[in-house]
Amino acid sequence: MIPFNRPSSSELELQFIRDSFERGHLSGDGWYTKKCSEYLEQKLGVSKVLLTTSCTSALEMAAILLDIREGDEVIMPSYTFVSTANAFALRGAHIVFVDIRKDTMNIDESLIEAAITERTKAIVPVHYAGVSCNMTRIMEIARAYDLFVVEDAAQGIFSAYDGMPLGSIGDIGCLSFHETKNISSGEGGALLLNNPAFIERAEIIREKGTNRANFFRGQVDKYSWVDIGSSFLLSDLNAAVLYAQLLRSDELNEKRLRIWNLYREGLSNIAAQGMVELASIPADCRHNAHMFYLKLRDLDTRARLISYLNKRHINAVFHYVPLHSSVAGSRYGRFYGEDRYTTSESERLLRLPLFYDLSEQQAGLVVEAVGNFFLQ
Ligand SMILES: *Cc1c(COP(=O)(O)O)cnc(C)c1O
Repeated sequence: MIPFNRPSSSELELQFIRDSFERGHLSGDGWYTKKCSEYLEQKLGVSKVLLTTSCTSALEMAAILLDIREGDEVIMPSYTFVSTANAFALRGAHIVFVDIRKDTMNIDESLIEAAITERTKAIVPVHYAGVSCNMTRIMEIARAYDLFVVEDAAQGIFSAYDGMPLGSIGDIGCLSFHETKNISSGEGGALLLNNPAFIERAEIIREKGTNRANFFRGQVDKYSWVDIGSSFLLSDLNAAVLYAQLLRSDELNEKRLRIWNLYREGLSNIAAQGMVELASIPADCRHNAHMFYLKLRDLDTRARLISYLNKRHINAVFHYVPLHSSVAGSRYGRFYGEDRYTTSESERLLRLPLFYDLSEQQAGLVVEAVGNFFLQ
């Protein structure tokens, strides 16, 4: 079976795990957490990076930091992972879902302005497949209406928009190091703070609402409960794995890109014949090959292709069911405007296996199987 995803590991991850035990510090904010944070701050050019237990946690921290409360509205696409919306719903926000663009599956920046009301507090662009939203327009709107921007860059590590790393453009960025992402520590995430004004409170929220970080820096002589927060620290054991992955990140991303390009070239024929549609990468985006997807004619064709590939031991999968059509999505949010592309495009989308250890030969088999499906 060619699986959809498999985590990559090398000697380095194992060596760092061993070293982490030898250092005798496995809980949060140890040696490896520091190494990862510094690496990311430097590489992404953000004021502060705080490692978290997941991107879900980072999004929840963002909602607390922005003081999101009952009745506030937050604008985001419906075509996203649950956590993007759940983090803000937890604080009492009403989610306003806006349609996506057909070409990138990202929020349609031209529809955001009309969805703004006097209750709107933030816009949450999601960089689907590691391909950037139109951040120029989104930042312009945010400035004009005095709104915060939280980038859900869970899939976007080391991608860039107009030369700027994803997650470093809005007020706050959130990364994921889940097993299914390019760089992984099993579970894990990071909160990127581009505005230094957020740093002190973010450290408190991340430490269960205590000023423990100040205490360790000798700024206060005891630590206590000063704000709301939760247990958001990534274990240093996971950070050890993450640091190994960060040091290998060029290698990891180059391999993904190579497979992505093989798929792209291999499927260009059937795309030219109109049997499938392939993703389009806007000229101002550098992507990280997080995902390779294609779009079929309709839901039925997709189901038939999934089962065809499964019979040939290839695990290809569909993706999000739009949040506005979910039970919680309709309770905590509403769709603004017309659902022109969210539902219809999500039903056509199919993701092919893509991970570091996928061989070029296996990628060739996948291309061949997809091609054969259309020859039947
Ligand atoms: C993976 C993902 C998340 C959640 O990340 P976790 O680290 O698993 O919490 C959130 N948003 C998007 C867009 C994702 O792809």
